Amino acid sequence: MNYQALAELLFPDVTGTPEQLEQKFPQRSLPEGAVVTRIGPSPTGFVHLGNLYNAVIGERLAHQSGGVFYLRIEDTDEKRKVEGAVETLISAMNYFGVQFDEGADAQGDRGSYGPYRQRQRKEFYHIIAKYLTAQGKAYPCFLTEQELQEIRDKQTANKENPGIYGIYAEANRNLTLEQVQENIRAGKSWVLRFRAEENEESILVSDAIRGELKMPRNTMDFVLLKSDGIPTYHFAHAVDDHFMRSTHVIRGEEWISSLPMHVELFNTLGWQQPVYCHTATLMKIEDGKKRKLSKRKDPELALAYYQQEGICPEAVWEFLLTLLNSNFEEWRLANPDADYHDFKYTIEKMSISGALVDLDKLRDVSKEVLSRMTAEKLYQGLLAWCQEYRPDFAELLKNYQNRALRALQVGRNGAKVRKDLENWKQSCEFLSFYFDETFRQQDAMPEEISEADRKEFFRKYLESYQHSDDSSAWFAKVKEITEQLGYAVKPKDFKKHPEDYKGSIIHITNMIRIALTGRANAPDIWEVSQALGEELVLSRLKKWL
Ligand code: GLU
Repeated sequence: MNYQALAELLFPDVTGTPEQLEQKFPQRSLPEGAVVTRIGPSPTGFVHLGNLYNAVIGERLAHQSGGVFYLRIEDTDEKRKVEGAVETLISAMNYFGVQFDEGADAQGDRGSYGPYRQRQRKEFYHIIAKYLTAQGKAYPCFLTEQELQEIRDKQTANKENPGIYGIYAEANRNLTLEQVQENIRAGKSWVLRFRAEENEESILVSDAIRGELKMPRNTMDFVLLKSDGIPTYHFAHAVDDHFMRSTHVIRGEEWISSLPMHVELFNTLGWQQPVYCHTATLMKIEDGKKRKLSKRKDPELALAYYQQEGICPEAVWEFLLTLLNSNFEEWRLANPDADYHDFKYTIEKMSISGALVDLDKLRDVSKEVLSRMTAEKLYQGLLAWCQEYRPDFAELLKNYQNRALRALQVGRNGAKVRKDLENWKQSCEFLSFYFDETFRQQDAMPEEISEADRKEFFRKYLESYQHSDDSSAWFAKVKEITEQLGYAVKPKDFKKHPEDYKGSIIHITNMIRIALTGRANAPDIWEVSQALGEELVLSRLKKWL
């Protein structure tokens, strides 16, 4: 067979050469050791946590090393494509603070290694496809759907590996140039297949996370171009990561089984293989058992979930970093005030057993992250989230900005910062008592205090109330009234001799807290009062007279 003639027959319009592509997309000039990597999501409309998980690794590796991190849209699968999905993806990545240096973006493309959407790269795939055909390494296969099905059935019956190889490949591999010509003239559709070696020796592929993987060499005549001329994932991966000059390919472990095909392609084309990093699948524990997160059952697999729940991007990052590097938490304890970007992320510390997405853990991380933010930063984050998800609360935050800022400062003045805030959604609920518009009487007054005592207490309290009192002057007054009413000022006295008192100061302070906040569980009364402001304090207390 004259392979050159076959290549011309299949790709008459392709004039470019691999050399030209090499020149068009030269090696990047970057510092020694710089990592170039990407995420390559498919625009299915569903952005999942795994996309961000891999993005965090890629972004860290690239930016820690002075390299490049880019976004490539893998849109070869027309069936899975959803309108607006690219925009959704880009905006989700944006929301979570993933910074791409180049790649697809909302306006089009940025960078000189594009286009960054696979459907726009057909010309490049065809140049390489033509080259492989001319080298005798690829051939057109005219098997129809029905023939393929018959082969599958036969293989199942014979308990053989599925796929096109050996005897199943023979007929199409050995077509003469004239037969191919005739088929094409007759309008038969074809795919381009890789011509594999029938050599089952094993290969060693090194994976930066998993070490050396021993695998059987590829013997499949796998598809390079589908009948519409669009490449398969395998072919696009090799062509794109080569010409976009990725040094590292970070992707889910579901791709490990395809590695022999990828290795074969890189070797055949004489290209340097990237460093592979196959990341662990996201798992959860259910009924004591670990299982894969499922799109159908687990809302937390969708990145949108974290947005909707108002879990701030920093918290999601820190949570992912705790999943990704076993030493992150230790580092965080030692560096409580550092920016998470200062943590030195390493592939060596990655685990290969499934990454556990534990929402309780996420909540703890998120509380920590929020507890480190200034009131001003909390305000900005909360307001931004509310503008999209709780416009009513956004209005309150804007109308009572000073009060909101003071409220966010409550519990942060002492050495030990309170960790009341979990996420933006819960923060709205938590802060709701600071505004009459959202105040709710959630808890009842302590039963230990009679109505008469309650009225008496609040009358005296209001009489002596000075909004400018500092915390100790304020508390001295509370103690004084407590004593006057026959309640124990020291809780332990009440514990020892309950018969001597009507109740304890704890009942009294609970009562004040409930009057002011509507709940028994709330931060320091004096601090809350300062945040509420004199007018609100007085009006809420007067209701109980
Ligand atoms: N489109 C592939 C996926 O969504 C990307 C894998 C890769 O990063 O190479 O799984």
